Amino acid sequence: MGASHSPAGTTKVVTRFAPSPTGFLHIGGARTALFNLLFARHHGGEFRLRIEDTDRARSTEPAIAAILDGMSWLGFDHDGEVVYQFARAARHAEVAHQLLSLGHAYRCYATPAELEAMRAEQRAAKQPMRYDGRWRDRSDWPNDQPYVIRLKAPREGSVTIDDLVQGPVTVANAELDDMVLLRSDGTPTYMLAVVVDDHDMGVTHVIRGDDHLNNAFRQLALIRAMGWPEPFYAHIPLIHGADGAKLSKRHGALGVDAYRDEMGLLPEAVENYLLRLGWGHGDDEIISRKQAIEWFDLAGVGRGPARFDMKKLESVNGHYLRAADDARLVDLIAGRVAAGLGRNLTDGDRNILQRSMPELKKRAPNLNELASGSLFFLRSRPIPMDDGATKLLASAPPGLLATAATALGAATDWSAPTLEAVARGLAETLGLKLGQVAQPLRAAMTGAAQSPGLFDVMAILGRDESLGRIADAQEMMEEGR
Ligand code: GLU
Repeated sequence: MGASHSPAGTTKVVTRFAPSPTGFLHIGGARTALFNLLFARHHGGEFRLRIEDTDRARSTEPAIAAILDGMSWLGFDHDGEVVYQFARAARHAEVAHQLLSLGHAYRCYATPAELEAMRAEQRAAKQPMRYDGRWRDRSDWPNDQPYVIRLKAPREGSVTIDDLVQGPVTVANAELDDMVLLRSDGTPTYMLAVVVDDHDMGVTHVIRGDDHLNNAFRQLALIRAMGWPEPFYAHIPLIHGADGAKLSKRHGALGVDAYRDEMGLLPEAVENYLLRLGWGHGDDEIISRKQAIEWFDLAGVGRGPARFDMKKLESVNGHYLRAADDARLVDLIAGRVAAGLGRNLTDGDRNILQRSMPELKKRAPNLNELASGSLFFLRSRPIPMDDGATKLLASAPPGLLATAATALGAATDWSAPTLEAVARGLAETLGLKLGQVAQPLRAAMTGAAQSPGLFDVMAILGRDESLGRIADAQEMMEEGR
Protein backbone atom coordinates (compact mmCIF):
# COMPACT_ATOMS: atom_id res chain seq x y z
CA MET A 1 0.00 0.00 0.00
CA GLY A 2 1.11 3.52 0.65
CA ALA A 3 3.69 4.52 -1.89
CA SER A 4 1.81 2.89 -4.75
CA HIS A 5 -1.41 4.74 -4.19
CA SER A 6 -2.49 8.37 -4.25
CA PRO A 7 0.87 10.12 -4.56
CA ALA A 8 1.15 13.45 -2.78
CA GLY A 9 0.60 16.10 -5.39
CA THR A 10 -2.58 14.71 -6.87
CA THR A 11 -4.52 15.06 -3.62
CA LYS A 12 -4.15 17.92 -1.15
CA VAL A 13 -1.95 16.84 1.74
CA VAL A 14 -3.79 16.73 5.07
CA THR A 15 -1.97 15.89 8.30
CA ARG A 16 -3.18 15.92 11.85
CA PHE A 17 -1.91 16.00 15.38
CA ALA A 18 -4.11 13.80 17.55
CA PRO A 19 -3.13 14.05 21.22
CA SER A 20 -4.98 12.23 23.99
CA PRO A 21 -5.74 14.80 26.69
CA THR A 22 -4.63 12.66 29.58
CA GLY A 23 -1.77 14.96 30.61
CA PHE A 24 0.21 18.01 29.51
CA LEU A 25 1.47 18.60 26.00
CA HIS A 26 4.84 16.94 26.42
CA ILE A 27 7.94 17.52 24.37
CA GLY A 28 7.51 14.36 22.25
CA GLY A 29 3.96 15.35 21.37
CA ALA A 30 5.10 18.84 20.47
CA ARG A 31 7.67 17.40 18.07
CA THR A 32 5.02 15.20 16.44
CA ALA A 33 2.82 18.27 16.05
CA LEU A 34 5.70 20.23 14.52
CA PHE A 35 6.54 17.53 11.96
CA ASN A 36 2.87 17.33 10.94
CA LEU A 37 2.69 21.11 10.68
CA LEU A 38 5.84 21.44 8.59
CA PHE A 39 4.95 18.58 6.29
CA ALA A 40 1.53 20.05 5.59
CA ARG A 41 2.89 23.56 5.05
CA HIS A 42 5.68 22.27 2.82
CA HIS A 43 3.09 20.68 0.55
CA GLY A 44 0.65 23.58 0.75
CA GLY A 45 -1.77 21.31 2.58
CA GLU A 46 -3.71 21.38 5.82
CA PHE A 47 -2.67 20.70 9.37
CA ARG A 48 -5.57 19.62 11.59
CA LEU A 49 -5.87 19.17 15.34
CA ARG A 50 -7.93 16.38 16.87
CA ILE A 51 -8.36 15.90 20.59
CA GLU A 52 -8.72 12.18 21.26
CA ASP A 53 -10.90 12.38 24.32
CA THR A 54 -12.67 9.03 24.00
CA ASP A 55 -11.12 7.72 27.19
CA ARG A 56 -13.60 9.47 29.47
CA ALA A 57 -11.96 8.36 32.67
CA ARG A 58 -8.54 9.75 31.77
CA SER A 59 -9.34 12.79 29.61
CA THR A 60 -9.55 16.06 31.51
CA GLU A 61 -10.49 19.65 30.70
CA PRO A 62 -7.25 21.06 32.17
CA ALA A 63 -5.28 18.70 29.90
CA ILE A 64 -7.21 19.90 26.85
CA ALA A 65 -6.56 23.51 27.90
CA ALA A 66 -2.86 22.77 28.38
CA ILE A 67 -2.60 21.23 24.91
CA LEU A 68 -4.33 24.17 23.23
CA ASP A 69 -2.26 26.63 25.25
CA GLY A 70 1.00 24.84 24.39
CA MET A 71 0.13 24.73 20.69
CA SER A 72 -0.65 28.41 20.62
CA TRP A 73 2.49 29.35 22.59
CA LEU A 74 4.57 27.44 20.04
CA GLY A 75 2.66 29.06 17.20
CA PHE A 76 1.62 25.66 15.84
CA ASP A 77 -1.51 27.03 14.20
CA HIS A 78 -3.86 24.38 12.91
CA ASP A 79 -6.35 24.68 10.10
CA GLY A 80 -10.09 24.39 10.60
CA GLU A 81 -11.95 23.66 13.80
CA VAL A 82 -10.53 21.42 16.52
CA VAL A 83 -12.14 17.99 16.19
CA TYR A 84 -13.21 16.41 19.48
CA GLN A 85 -13.31 12.67 19.06
CA PHE A 86 -15.82 11.84 21.77
CA ALA A 87 -18.44 14.07 20.16
CA ARG A 88 -18.28 11.86 17.07
CA ALA A 89 -19.18 8.59 18.79
CA ALA A 90 -22.45 8.22 16.86
CA ARG A 91 -20.60 8.46 13.57
CA HIS A 92 -18.10 5.85 14.72
CA ALA A 93 -20.95 3.49 15.67
CA GLU A 94 -22.56 4.09 12.30
CA VAL A 95 -19.42 2.84 10.55
CA ALA A 96 -19.34 -0.28 12.73
CA HIS A 97 -22.93 -1.05 11.70
CA GLN A 98 -22.08 -0.37 8.07
CA LEU A 99 -19.27 -2.92 8.28
CA LEU A 100 -21.69 -5.35 9.84
CA SER A 101 -24.12 -5.00 6.95
CA LEU A 102 -21.25 -5.27 4.45
CA GLY A 103 -20.26 -8.57 6.02
CA HIS A 104 -16.86 -7.20 7.07
CA ALA A 105 -17.74 -7.28 10.73
CA TYR A 106 -19.70 -9.64 12.95
CA ARG A 107 -21.48 -9.89 16.26
CA CYS A 108 -19.55 -11.61 18.99
CA TYR A 109 -21.50 -12.84 21.99
CA ALA A 110 -18.55 -14.25 23.91
CA THR A 111 -18.91 -13.33 27.58
CA PRO A 112 -16.03 -11.86 29.60
CA ALA A 113 -15.77 -15.15 31.49
CA GLU A 114 -15.51 -17.15 28.27
CA LEU A 115 -12.83 -14.84 26.92
CA GLU A 116 -10.90 -15.12 30.16
CA ALA A 117 -11.04 -18.91 29.94
CA MET A 118 -9.85 -18.74 26.33
CA ARG A 119 -6.89 -16.60 27.31
CA ALA A 120 -6.05 -18.86 30.23
CA GLU A 121 -5.87 -21.83 27.86
CA GLN A 122 -3.68 -19.92 25.44
CA ARG A 123 -1.42 -18.87 28.27
CA ALA A 124 -1.15 -22.46 29.50
CA ALA A 125 -0.33 -23.69 25.98
CA LYS A 126 2.21 -20.85 25.64
CA GLN A 127 0.33 -19.54 22.62
CA PRO A 128 -0.05 -15.87 21.84
CA MET A 129 -3.20 -14.48 23.39
CA ARG A 130 -5.64 -13.63 20.64
CA TYR A 131 -9.37 -13.75 20.14
CA ASP A 132 -9.96 -17.05 18.34
CA GLY A 133 -12.80 -15.92 16.06
CA ARG A 134 -15.38 -18.20 17.67
CA TRP A 135 -18.31 -16.00 16.50
CA ARG A 136 -16.82 -15.12 13.12
CA ASP A 137 -19.04 -17.38 11.06
CA ARG A 138 -22.03 -17.90 13.32
CA SER A 139 -25.51 -16.52 12.85
CA ASP A 140 -27.35 -18.34 15.65
CA TRP A 141 -27.47 -15.14 17.64
CA PRO A 142 -29.06 -15.43 21.05
CA ASN A 143 -31.90 -12.99 21.65
CA ASP A 144 -31.44 -10.09 24.07
CA GLN A 145 -27.85 -10.94 24.86
CA PRO A 146 -25.18 -8.22 24.80
CA TYR A 147 -22.69 -8.45 21.95
CA VAL A 148 -19.72 -6.57 20.61
CA ILE A 149 -19.00 -5.88 16.95
CA ARG A 150 -15.69 -7.24 15.71
CA LEU A 151 -13.88 -6.63 12.47
CA LYS A 152 -13.69 -9.68 10.20
CA ALA A 153 -10.01 -9.25 9.43
CA PRO A 154 -8.19 -11.22 6.73
CA ARG A 155 -6.56 -14.38 8.09
CA GLU A 156 -4.35 -15.36 5.20
CA GLY A 157 -1.37 -13.54 3.77
CA SER A 158 0.35 -10.51 5.16
CA VAL A 159 0.22 -6.73 5.16
CA THR A 160 3.14 -4.51 4.26
CA ILE A 161 3.23 -0.87 5.14
CA ASP A 162 5.70 1.26 3.20
CA ASP A 163 6.35 3.51 6.12
CA LEU A 164 7.86 6.82 5.02
CA VAL A 165 10.30 6.74 7.94
CA GLN A 166 10.66 3.06 8.88
CA GLY A 167 10.68 1.66 5.34
CA PRO A 168 8.63 -1.43 4.48
CA VAL A 169 7.29 -3.26 7.54
CA THR A 170 5.38 -6.54 7.16
CA VAL A 171 3.07 -8.39 9.52
CA ALA A 172 1.34 -11.72 8.89
CA ASN A 173 -2.43 -11.45 9.08
CA ALA A 174 -2.46 -14.52 11.29
CA GLU A 175 -0.89 -12.37 13.98
CA LEU A 176 -3.78 -9.93 14.06
CA ASP A 177 -7.02 -11.00 15.68
CA ASP A 178 -10.50 -9.69 15.01
CA MET A 179 -10.52 -6.50 17.00
CA VAL A 180 -13.55 -5.07 18.72
CA LEU A 181 -15.01 -2.03 16.94
CA LEU A 182 -18.09 -1.40 19.07
CA ARG A 183 -18.43 -2.42 22.70
CA SER A 184 -21.56 -4.06 24.04
CA ASP A 185 -22.71 -0.73 25.48
CA GLY A 186 -22.55 0.72 21.95
CA THR A 187 -19.44 2.82 22.52
CA PRO A 188 -16.75 2.79 19.82
CA THR A 189 -13.24 1.57 20.50
CA TYR A 190 -10.28 3.85 20.06
CA MET A 191 -9.09 1.96 16.93
CA LEU A 192 -12.41 2.51 15.20
CA ALA A 193 -12.57 6.16 16.20
CA VAL A 194 -9.08 6.95 14.86
CA VAL A 195 -9.75 5.37 11.48
CA VAL A 196 -13.15 6.97 11.00
CA ASP A 197 -11.89 10.39 12.06
CA ASP A 198 -8.82 10.25 9.86
CA HIS A 199 -11.04 9.29 6.92
CA ASP A 200 -13.68 11.93 7.56
CA MET A 201 -11.03 14.62 8.04
CA GLY A 202 -9.42 13.61 4.75
CA VAL A 203 -6.08 12.80 6.37
CA THR A 204 -3.56 11.74 3.72
CA HIS A 205 -0.46 11.37 5.90
CA VAL A 206 -0.44 9.88 9.38
CA ILE A 207 2.75 11.13 11.06
CA ARG A 208 3.08 10.00 14.69
CA GLY A 209 5.27 8.26 17.26
CA ASP A 210 6.49 4.76 16.40
CA ASP A 211 4.69 3.41 19.46
CA HIS A 212 1.67 3.42 17.11
CA LEU A 213 3.25 1.33 14.35
CA ASN A 214 1.55 -1.87 15.54
CA ASN A 215 -1.81 -0.12 15.50
CA ALA A 216 -1.31 0.85 11.87
CA PHE A 217 -1.74 -2.75 10.66
CA ARG A 218 -5.09 -3.13 12.40
CA GLN A 219 -6.19 0.31 11.31
CA LEU A 220 -5.31 -0.54 7.73
CA ALA A 221 -7.42 -3.70 7.84
CA LEU A 222 -10.36 -1.54 8.87
CA ILE A 223 -9.68 1.04 6.17
CA ARG A 224 -9.56 -1.70 3.56
CA ALA A 225 -12.79 -3.25 4.81
CA MET A 226 -14.47 0.11 4.24
CA GLY A 227 -12.78 0.51 0.88
CA TRP A 228 -11.47 3.92 1.92
CA PRO A 229 -8.33 5.56 0.52
CA GLU A 230 -5.26 4.45 2.43
CA PRO A 231 -3.13 7.14 4.06
CA PHE A 232 0.63 7.21 3.98
CA TYR A 233 2.21 6.36 7.31
CA ALA A 234 5.31 7.88 8.90
CA HIS A 235 6.21 6.54 12.32
CA ILE A 236 8.81 8.69 14.04
CA PRO A 237 11.22 7.17 16.59
CA LEU A 238 10.56 8.30 20.14
CA ILE A 239 12.78 10.74 21.99
CA HIS A 240 15.28 9.35 24.46
CA GLY A 241 17.21 11.06 27.24
CA ALA A 242 20.85 12.11 26.84
CA ASP A 243 21.79 8.82 28.54
CA GLY A 244 19.94 6.76 25.91
CA ALA A 245 17.10 5.67 28.22
CA LYS A 246 13.50 6.36 27.34
CA LEU A 247 12.63 9.99 28.04
CA SER A 248 11.37 10.54 31.56
CA LYS A 249 10.69 13.58 33.71
CA ARG A 250 14.28 13.54 34.83
CA HIS A 251 15.39 14.08 31.22
CA GLY A 252 12.99 16.89 30.46
CA ALA A 253 9.81 14.98 29.54
CA LEU A 254 7.81 17.84 30.96
CA GLY A 255 4.89 19.81 29.66
CA VAL A 256 5.81 22.59 27.25
CA ASP A 257 4.48 25.01 29.87
CA ALA A 258 7.48 24.05 32.01
CA TYR A 259 9.80 25.03 29.16
CA ARG A 260 8.11 28.39 29.04
CA ASP A 261 7.52 29.11 32.74
CA GLU A 262 10.14 27.19 34.69
CA MET A 263 13.01 27.10 32.21
CA GLY A 264 12.33 30.49 30.63
CA LEU A 265 12.77 29.41 27.01
CA LEU A 266 11.51 31.14 23.90
CA PRO A 267 9.00 29.26 21.75
CA GLU A 268 11.03 29.72 18.57
CA ALA A 269 14.03 28.17 20.33
CA VAL A 270 12.02 25.16 21.51
CA GLU A 271 10.65 24.77 17.99
CA ASN A 272 14.09 24.95 16.38
CA TYR A 273 15.46 22.46 18.87
CA LEU A 274 12.55 20.04 18.36
CA LEU A 275 13.00 20.25 14.62
CA ARG A 276 16.62 19.18 14.92
CA LEU A 277 15.65 16.39 17.29
CA GLY A 278 15.34 13.53 14.85
CA TRP A 279 15.48 15.54 11.63
CA GLY A 280 18.42 17.13 9.92
CA HIS A 281 19.37 19.32 7.01
CA GLY A 282 23.13 19.01 6.64
CA ASP A 283 24.89 20.74 9.51
CA ASP A 284 22.34 23.52 9.85
CA GLU A 285 21.48 24.21 13.48
CA ILE A 286 19.61 27.51 13.43
CA ILE A 287 16.64 27.11 11.14
CA SER A 288 13.73 29.52 10.92
CA ARG A 289 10.12 28.37 10.49
CA LYS A 290 10.16 29.67 6.93
CA GLN A 291 13.31 27.74 6.11
CA ALA A 292 11.99 24.65 7.86
CA ILE A 293 8.82 24.69 5.76
CA GLU A 294 10.94 24.90 2.66
CA TRP A 295 13.29 22.11 3.68
CA PHE A 296 11.19 19.68 5.69
CA ASP A 297 10.77 16.19 4.33
CA LEU A 298 10.19 12.81 5.92
CA ALA A 299 13.28 11.37 4.27
CA GLY A 300 15.34 13.54 6.62
CA VAL A 301 13.82 11.90 9.72
CA GLY A 302 16.27 9.46 11.30
CA ARG A 303 15.30 5.89 12.14
CA GLY A 304 17.12 5.78 15.46
CA PRO A 305 15.79 7.42 18.63
CA ALA A 306 16.79 11.05 19.03
CA ARG A 307 18.55 12.13 22.23
CA PHE A 308 17.25 15.01 24.22
CA ASP A 309 19.99 17.39 25.33
CA MET A 310 19.09 20.26 27.66
CA LYS A 311 22.46 22.01 27.16
CA LYS A 312 21.96 22.13 23.44
CA LEU A 313 18.45 23.46 23.91
CA GLU A 314 19.79 26.26 26.12
CA SER A 315 22.44 27.17 23.60
CA VAL A 316 19.83 27.38 20.85
CA ASN A 317 17.76 29.48 23.25
CA GLY A 318 20.69 31.84 23.86
CA HIS A 319 20.90 32.39 20.13
CA TYR A 320 17.22 33.31 19.87
CA LEU A 321 17.44 35.55 22.95
CA ARG A 322 20.19 37.59 21.36
CA ALA A 323 18.13 37.88 18.19
CA ALA A 324 14.90 38.79 20.00
CA ASP A 325 13.37 42.25 20.04
CA ASP A 326 14.26 44.18 23.23
CA ALA A 327 10.71 45.36 24.01
CA ARG A 328 9.43 41.80 23.72
CA LEU A 329 12.13 40.59 26.14
CA VAL A 330 11.21 43.31 28.63
CA ASP A 331 7.61 42.06 28.53
CA LEU A 332 8.73 38.47 28.92
CA ILE A 333 10.90 39.11 31.97
CA ALA A 334 8.72 41.76 33.65
CA GLY A 335 6.92 39.24 35.91
CA ARG A 336 10.15 37.55 36.93
CA VAL A 337 11.86 40.88 37.63
CA ALA A 338 8.94 42.11 39.73
CA ALA A 339 9.05 38.88 41.73
CA GLY A 340 12.80 39.27 42.21
CA LEU A 341 12.40 42.85 43.47
CA GLY A 342 9.30 42.09 45.50
CA ARG A 343 7.44 45.03 43.99
CA ASN A 344 5.62 46.10 40.84
CA LEU A 345 7.62 47.65 38.02
CA THR A 346 7.33 51.37 37.33
CA ASP A 347 7.58 52.93 33.89
CA GLY A 348 11.05 54.08 34.90
CA ASP A 349 12.04 50.47 35.65
CA ARG A 350 10.77 49.32 32.27
CA ASN A 351 12.68 52.10 30.63
CA ILE A 352 15.91 51.00 32.31
CA LEU A 353 15.28 47.38 31.31
CA GLN A 354 14.66 48.42 27.74
CA ARG A 355 17.89 50.43 27.60
CA SER A 356 19.98 47.73 29.26
CA MET A 357 18.58 44.88 27.17
CA PRO A 358 21.16 45.02 24.36
CA GLU A 359 23.88 44.43 26.98
CA LEU A 360 21.95 42.01 29.20
CA LYS A 361 20.84 39.63 26.48
CA LYS A 362 24.38 39.01 25.26
CA ARG A 363 25.01 36.58 28.08
CA ALA A 364 21.75 35.00 29.22
CA PRO A 365 20.86 31.42 28.23
CA ASN A 366 17.23 31.81 29.37
CA LEU A 367 14.70 34.33 30.62
CA ASN A 368 15.29 33.43 34.26
CA GLU A 369 18.93 34.44 34.08
CA LEU A 370 18.08 37.42 31.92
CA ALA A 371 15.71 38.58 34.66
CA SER A 372 18.02 37.86 37.59
CA GLY A 373 20.92 39.51 35.74
CA SER A 374 18.88 42.69 35.37
CA LEU A 375 17.90 43.11 39.02
CA PHE A 376 20.94 45.13 40.06
CA PHE A 377 19.81 47.94 37.76
CA LEU A 378 16.53 48.33 39.60
CA ARG A 379 17.43 47.66 43.21
CA SER A 380 17.21 50.49 45.71
CA ARG A 381 20.38 51.73 47.34
CA PRO A 382 22.35 50.44 49.04
CA ILE A 383 22.38 47.47 46.68
CA PRO A 384 23.41 44.04 48.03
CA MET A 385 26.98 42.89 47.35
CA ASP A 386 27.86 39.30 46.53
CA ASP A 387 31.09 37.69 47.77
CA GLY A 388 33.00 38.46 44.58
CA ALA A 389 32.08 42.14 44.81
CA THR A 390 32.94 42.33 48.51
CA LYS A 391 36.40 40.85 47.83
CA LEU A 392 37.00 43.25 44.95
CA LEU A 393 36.18 46.22 47.13
CA ALA A 394 38.31 44.94 50.01
CA SER A 395 41.36 44.63 47.76
CA ALA A 396 40.88 47.95 45.95
CA PRO A 397 43.72 50.52 46.23
CA PRO A 398 43.01 52.73 49.28
CA GLY A 399 41.15 55.90 48.48
CA LEU A 400 40.42 54.79 44.93
CA LEU A 401 36.65 55.08 45.10
CA ALA A 402 36.80 58.60 46.53
CA THR A 403 39.23 59.73 43.83
CA ALA A 404 37.14 58.04 41.15
CA ALA A 405 33.97 59.66 42.41
CA THR A 406 35.57 63.10 42.19
CA ALA A 407 36.92 62.49 38.69
CA LEU A 408 33.67 61.00 37.40
CA GLY A 409 31.63 63.74 39.07
CA ALA A 410 33.58 66.30 37.04
CA ALA A 411 32.86 64.52 33.74
CA THR A 412 31.50 66.86 31.06
CA ASP A 413 28.69 64.45 30.18
CA TRP A 414 27.41 61.12 31.46
CA SER A 415 27.87 58.96 28.39
CA ALA A 416 29.69 55.63 28.21
CA PRO A 417 32.58 56.91 26.02
CA THR A 418 33.18 59.94 28.26
CA LEU A 419 33.06 57.85 31.44
CA GLU A 420 35.49 55.38 29.95
CA ALA A 421 37.86 58.20 28.98
CA VAL A 422 37.72 59.56 32.53
CA ALA A 423 38.47 56.13 34.00
CA ARG A 424 41.39 55.63 31.62
CA GLY A 425 42.79 59.05 32.46
CA LEU A 426 42.47 58.29 36.15
CA ALA A 427 44.23 54.93 35.82
CA GLU A 428 47.07 56.61 33.98
CA THR A 429 47.43 59.37 36.55
CA LEU A 430 47.49 56.84 39.41
CA GLY A 431 49.81 54.43 37.59
CA LEU A 432 47.18 51.66 37.66
CA LYS A 433 45.79 49.33 35.03
CA LEU A 434 42.30 50.13 33.77
CA GLY A 435 41.01 46.93 35.41
CA GLN A 436 42.26 48.07 38.82
CA VAL A 437 40.04 51.10 38.53
CA ALA A 438 37.14 49.48 36.70
CA GLN A 439 36.69 46.35 38.84
CA PRO A 440 36.00 48.11 42.17
CA LEU A 441 33.69 50.47 40.29
CA ARG A 442 31.91 47.49 38.79
CA ALA A 443 31.45 46.00 42.25
CA ALA A 444 30.03 49.29 43.52
CA MET A 445 27.74 49.70 40.57
CA THR A 446 26.39 46.13 40.21
CA GLY A 447 27.11 44.29 43.47
CA ALA A 448 28.90 41.60 41.46
CA ALA A 449 32.31 40.90 39.96
CA GLN A 450 30.84 40.24 36.53
CA SER A 451 28.35 42.36 34.66
CA PRO A 452 27.53 43.89 31.32
CA GLY A 453 29.95 46.59 30.15
CA LEU A 454 30.69 48.88 33.14
CA PHE A 455 30.44 52.21 31.34
CA ASP A 456 27.19 51.21 29.63
CA VAL A 457 25.83 50.28 33.05
CA MET A 458 26.85 53.64 34.50
CA ALA A 459 25.35 55.53 31.58
CA ILE A 460 22.06 53.70 32.04
CA LEU A 461 22.02 54.20 35.82
CA GLY A 462 22.69 57.92 35.40
CA ARG A 463 24.91 60.34 37.29
CA ASP A 464 23.18 60.57 40.64
CA GLU A 465 22.49 56.87 41.02
CA SER A 466 26.05 55.93 39.95
CA LEU A 467 27.73 58.39 42.30
CA GLY A 468 25.34 57.33 45.06
CA ARG A 469 26.33 53.67 44.59
CA ILE A 470 30.01 54.60 44.78
CA ALA A 471 29.35 56.47 48.03
CA ASP A 472 27.47 53.44 49.41
CA ALA A 473 30.42 51.18 48.59
CA GLN A 474 32.85 53.56 50.26
CA GLU A 475 30.72 53.59 53.36
CA MET A 476 30.46 49.83 53.37
CA MET A 477 34.28 49.53 53.17
CA GLU A 478 34.79 51.98 55.97
CA GLU A 479 32.37 50.05 58.17
CA GLY A 480 34.22 46.86 57.27
CA ARG A 481 37.60 48.24 58.35
N1 GLU B 1 -4.00 9.82 20.57
C1 GLU B 1 -2.78 9.14 20.28
C2 GLU B 1 -1.71 9.58 21.26
O1 GLU B 1 -1.84 10.61 21.88
C3 GLU B 1 -2.28 9.38 18.87
C4 GLU B 1 -3.02 8.58 17.88
C5 GLU B 1 -2.56 8.76 16.47
O2 GLU B 1 -1.75 9.66 16.19
O3 GLU B 1 -3.04 8.00 15.63
O4 GLU B 1 -0.73 8.89 21.42
